[in-house]
Amino acid sequence: MTDASRPGGFPAPIHPAPGDNHRGPCVIASGNGLKDYNGPNTVELAFKLITDGHRPVEACVRGVNLVEDDPEDMSVGYGGLPNEDGVIQLDAACMDGPLHKAGAVAALEDIKNPASVALEVLRRTDHVLLVGPGAKKFALRIGFPEQDLHTEASRKAWLDWRANLNREDKWLDADQIINFPEPWRQQSMGPPPHRGGGGSSEARAGGGASPSHPSGAGHISLDPLGNPHTYGTIHCSAVNKDTDLGCCTTTSGLAWKLPGRVGDSPLIGAGLYCDNATGSAGATGRGESVIHTLGSAWIVHAMERGLTPTEACLEACKRIVDRTHEPRMFDDNKRPRFSVTFYAVRKDGAYGSASILKGGHAAVCTDGKAQRLESEFLYE
Ligand code: ASP
Repeated sequence: MTDASRPGGFPAPIHPAPGDNHRGPCVIASGNGLKDYNGPNTVELAFKLITDGHRPVEACVRGVNLVEDDPEDMSVGYGGLPNEDGVIQLDAACMDGPLHKAGAVAALEDIKNPASVALEVLRRTDHVLLVGPGAKKFALRIGFPEQDLHTEASRKAWLDWRANLNREDKWLDADQIINFPEPWRQQSMGPPPHRGGGGSSEARAGGGASPSHPSGAGHISLDPLGNPHTYGTIHCSAVNKDTDLGCCTTTSGLAWKLPGRVGDSPLIGAGLYCDNATGSAGATGRGESVIHTLGSAWIVHAMERGLTPTEACLEACKRIVDRTHEPRMFDDNKRPRFSVTFYAVRKDGAYGSASILKGGHAAVCTDGKAQRLESEFLYE
């Protein structure tokens, strides 16, 4: 897997990753599936439900509901970080292996359990994806309560962000806008669009490039390790003793996103996918990259071609990096400035996870007790 054309190359993955050898019922989720709620966490609850005979898709939805309800998780459900306008818009989807049927909602407002609404779309309709006001109307009609999803912390985070001149917003700086050569496009488009919070791009960037973005790509916020910290989601995939599969992904999406932005999480094939003949997969991290490569569907197809779950997740990460061509997405050492983590389980119970950048981890349950799995990775 080492690629000499990239400075630093890819570290060699540890093979075989232990999860690839597991057989039997299994639940895998993103790392927030390990959070303790003085009772079973996401993966333990989902595992108990599949053991008790519930459908894997339903078990996954009930498992992620714990995180949606958690006011402290600012990336999912209640208390999630809002969009540019301060509105919390939630995305979620689920997929049932035996029926090969999915349900999803996007840009849903004022309802704290979008994963459950997605399950109702699957159960009660002939559609797959409901968005915005239509999704909310559907949820209210079938009895979901309307509520303010802001916590004090999510509102304060938005107010602080606003006060900070919108340096983290999602409009590209003028010098980053992609100009195609067609003359008609340049004539018809006019100047760069006005950005939500006012002020010039130079003022927003603090008068120049931020230290973590020497190239001036100041709109991807990075934590001290250089990872984007405005992402966050929970994915959960499960296989039961009958080797039936199901999965669910739910999120408040990218913080400070443009109103109406839909990420990968509610898009079947991108933020999640399962095929009852093969396996199930899901993603967290930079949703746009997952959409561009249809990451989760690709992993399931890779497992169908014979890759282990870990290998398939690693290959999906590599595919993203190889297909990312905008210089702003890499640092001076050609290391990606963003990450994606994939999670996968095969029909026989083998499981795995991999991230673009080191630091991803997963929650796994194969016997009633959750374990932490360090994701394989491409870059230190
Ligand atoms: N993938 C989600 C999105 O782009 C965010 C995340 O997983 O961190 O909306």
